Amino acid sequence: MKEFISEVIVNETSIKRSDFDRWMVPAYSPAEFIPVRGEGSHLWDQAGKHYIDFAGGIAVNALGHTHPVAVHALQEQSQRLWHLGNGYTNEPVLRLAKQLTESTFADKAFFCNSGAEANEAALKLARKVARDKGYTGKTGIIAFKNAFHGRTLFTVSAGGQPKYSEDFAPLPPGIKHAPYNDLAAVADIISDATCAVIVEPVQGEGGVLPADSAFLKGLRELCDKHQALLIFDEVQTGVGRTGELYAYMRYGVLPDVLTTAKALGGGFPVGAMLTTNELAASMSSGTHGTTYGGNPLAAAVAGAVFGFINTPDVLQGVHKRYQYFVDNILRINEDLSIFTEIRGAGLLLGCQMDSHYSGKAKQLTQLASEEGLLLLIAGPDVVRLTPSLIIPFADIDEGLKRMKRAMTRFAGLQDTQS
Ligand SMILES: *Cc1c(COP(=O)(O)O)cnc(C)c1O
Repeated sequence: MKEFISEVIVNETSIKRSDFDRWMVPAYSPAEFIPVRGEGSHLWDQAGKHYIDFAGGIAVNALGHTHPVAVHALQEQSQRLWHLGNGYTNEPVLRLAKQLTESTFADKAFFCNSGAEANEAALKLARKVARDKGYTGKTGIIAFKNAFHGRTLFTVSAGGQPKYSEDFAPLPPGIKHAPYNDLAAVADIISDATCAVIVEPVQGEGGVLPADSAFLKGLRELCDKHQALLIFDEVQTGVGRTGELYAYMRYGVLPDVLTTAKALGGGFPVGAMLTTNELAASMSSGTHGTTYGGNPLAAAVAGAVFGFINTPDVLQGVHKRYQYFVDNILRINEDLSIFTEIRGAGLLLGCQMDSHYSGKAKQLTQLASEEGLLLLIAGPDVVRLTPSLIIPFADIDEGLKRMKRAMTRFAGLQDTQS
């Protein structure tokens, strides 16, 4: 057994970035380096180069990499029970459901493995609820331009970025898109034939755009008027990301259905749809399901991560870090004028590129990785930061130093090009 393990490790060192192009479906274009180890907000690649991580696995690694609380939960559960299938329930999933329902508006949880699946469940629930209430033709779904809800056919159709859906037509019918933050546009198209409105409280992939409070309140009223479900896609904004446990709490608007994933497992794949007793009843036995949903290993890790984050200390720490990031990035930007605006909520931050630099957000993140810093983009013109919710201030300082170097080089390059 030992010999076998060391052989695997030896083989691993021969793995190269070019192997991606040999063996992987080219659905992604990953960076040229391969990270091999992480600790907190630090990462190291194959060559031993060090990075500060402001990307956080796309708003997933809420406690950074290999946090002891998550590692402990994973190790403990890995020696007890990994998987059963949904013919049996298990202790970790029931504990997690209790945590989620006790700390939100919801009474019931449905578990799955990703954000797309949580949204798929929410949209299917909305259609089923309307049908169970005896409505015919109440199947319409209203979603928003630039929204992102996942990559299944239903969720990519609900998403408001045609580039992700048009190649896969025919798409499921019955979905209309309104401009985000435009309540009048929704009022124009909503009707008694609408079964749901699905919205991100802060559009993440679409460019880090927070909803106006009046917009979400207005959606709530329109949904009530037309007996449509209000679905909040909190896959990116949930589990402390905005400094509240869920973003709906900062808006004071209650959804009927909420979806959560990304940070929920802190890096272990898990998602959930949360809803009320009344609506949950429509997902009766056999209506919907997934093999891995509520898997004890995933649920044990998620329970530990969620419990750690759902404390005043951690959540207030997110607000403090928000201010620190914004103040310091604005200060760096003063001389360079690369960004026109820093927006977002909590540790979901978007830096809008000046129109001089349109389409160049990716170039800036590539320079950042050369300087030893991981950043994200949200569309071609926004640099996005979604670091660990507990990133130490010293790591923020080091990351910002590297960001300043990358920004300075970026501005210099543009000067020589023009
Ligand atoms: C990432 C994301 C999804 C999709 O989640 P997956 O786990 O990739 O399926 C859905 N909605 C929002 C708001 C997201 O940010």
